[in-house]
Amino acid sequence: MTAPSVASWRKRAACQGIDPETFYPVSDEDAEEAKAICAVCPVRQACLEHALAHREREGVWGGATERERRRILRQRRKSA
Ligand code: SF4
Repeated sequence: MTAPSVASWRKRAACQGIDPETFYPVSDEDAEEAKAICAVCPVRQACLEHALAHREREGVWGGATERERRRILRQRRKSA
């Protein structure tokens, strides 16, 4: 079951109604369309934090690809 806080940010997601495949590009180079949508999404930060917390392995979340999220986690570990 989804936690209420997660459900609330998802309801305001800019990607609602957009083909989910857009957010699962085959490479980082193909992620620009998804990133452009995330860039104007009002819940971008919540989405990114969700993906980081749940170690989402695939797709673009909060404007970041899987590779970019790993980099963010590494940077956070270093500065912790
Ligand atoms: S940040 Fe991107 S993937 Fe996350 S909810 Fe918004 S549009 Fe969807």
